[in-house]
Amino acid sequence: MLLLTELRLPTIKRLVTDLCTQSDREGWPGHRLLESLLEHEIAEREARRTERHRAESSLSPDKRLSSFDFNAVPCVSKAQVMALAEGTEWLDRGANVLLFGPPGVGKSHLVCALGHALIDAGRRVLFTRCSELVQRLQAARRDLRLPQELARLDRFDLLILDDLSYVRRDQAETSALFELIAERYERKSLAVTANTPFSRWGEVFVDAAMTVAAVDRLVHHATILEMNVQSYRQRTAQAAAPARRASKPTTAAAKD
Ligand code: ADP
Ligand code: MG
Repeated sequence: MLLLTELRLPTIKRLVTDLCTQSDREGWPGHRLLESLLEHEIAEREARRTERHRAESSLSPDKRLSSFDFNAVPCVSKAQVMALAEGTEWLDRGANVLLFGPPGVGKSHLVCALGHALIDAGRRVLFTRCSELVQRLQAARRDLRLPQELARLDRFDLLILDDLSYVRRDQAETSALFELIAERYERKSLAVTANTPFSRWGEVFVDAAMTVAAVDRLVHHATILEMNVQSYRQRTAQAAAPARRASKPTTAAAKD
């Protein structure tokens, strides 16, 4: 037992005394005791790894699949989203997910929720605003560090680029974005959200040829989720308004 407490296995160290006592009391065979100790160690190690991955992901903690109302977006198949969340082999193929729709329809929420589910499944995910990432890549290129920066992003099985449409040619030299897309093509997955359809991506990339090449690579192995519904914020505000109006006289009456 002294030896076990010397090991750099924190869970075993913590549990060994209690489990040995239980083992003696209940007459466990030796292998049962060892299995039990190692199972605890492995389970806690996985839990710590998952929490590390969640901390590094920059995902909003509260945007989960459990809080996403699929009834609000009937054009999105819940089964298709759940398949992406549960069967993670698409990440091994470097397949992509593209989410389109006007502002406020739940693109960021849904893509974050998918990210959390993939982290739960043991994968590494990074959420970034696309415009911020483009600026970072540009700075890296200026400092001749672009390959290192792309390699750093390579650690992530899924890189989420939120709001691609907010990147503007004049805001940033978006060839860095193209390089990222080309570099990850068929190797590492991207999830992209955008307010504008492909036909307007010419406003983002440097020229028509680069736009076509970027779109081509992104859609080649992609699940496309079209979220063409009314803004969830507007819907909930409208749903709350009649209730507020209806509740006003009652409040007044209560005061009287
Ligand atoms: P978008 O990225 O499309 O602009 P967001 O994901 O930011 O939209 O959604 C706006 C707000 O509405 C967020 O607070 C989000 O959590 C919420 N929301 C949007 N759609 C849904 C939904 N279907 N179920 C639950 N909350 C939603
Ligand atoms: Mg958004």
